[in-house]
Amino acid sequence: VIRLYVAGPLAEGAKVALRPDQVHYLRAVMRCGTGDDCLAFNGVDGEWRCRMAFEGRAAGALVAVASERAQTRGADLDLIISIVKRPRLETIVEKAAELGAARVRLAVTERSQPGRPNLARLSAIAAEAAEQTGRLDIPQVLPAATLAATLAGLGERPLMFCDEAGEAAPALAALGRAGGGAWAILIGPEGGFAPAERAAVRALPGALPVSLGPRILRADTAAIAALTLWQAALGDWRGP
Ligand code: SAM
Repeated sequence: VIRLYVAGPLAEGAKVALRPDQVHYLRAVMRCGTGDDCLAFNGVDGEWRCRMAFEGRAAGALVAVASERAQTRGADLDLIISIVKRPRLETIVEKAAELGAARVRLAVTERSQPGRPNLARLSAIAAEAAEQTGRLDIPQVLPAATLAATLAGLGERPLMFCDEAGEAAPALAALGRAGGGAWAILIGPEGGFAPAERAAVRALPGALPVSLGPRILRADTAAIAALTLWQAALGDWRGP
């Protein structure tokens, strides 16, 4: 079934304009026409079965027919990822969407990849992954910020600090002793954290240094593993 993330409100009879790229996808790629159905969600009004209405070559809209699923909120979970090279960063954003992160924060660290990632492209990847994975919202990809600024914004939020270089508890055991609620996960860059960065993170009241096993994982592998462990220990992989 086709699922689309749309910008407008969804309610019975509501008409939501489609972006030109969405019209192209439905008409040219999926060979749909006026009167065909799809599902739509906007992160607020749940998921609606909608009818397509195309106007001319490049314009179109969805008309909401019936509510399929009420809106639910996923975990209040931030993935803080130190900026790595584009292909791996795009994989991380896509997997963060599938694994239920609410936000992806891009951190600039001493050894992170220079340059600014393309936010529009990463947001589109997040939306597409959310459509495919059946989420009722899309993860927000936030603009790059320094590690210090990102950590300052955490407040009391517990932080699963994936630290391959320092004393750290096995992740599953550590999470099993922790409480649920709002959390953040921190993954370092390909060159790892600088000693001063590691010390600053460990000084945070909510920091929980964890090990992801005896092998050094690539940043994308580490992000996937950390999100999986968190969801299994504290999130929606524990069952309804
Ligand atoms: N510092 C290592 C180096 O320079 O090769 C590797 C850094 S690793 C590629 C990127 C990030 O993944 C690390 O900073 C850490 O957050 C996470 N990570 C990788 N392996 C890990 C492990 N075994 N335990 C905990 N975190 C790990």
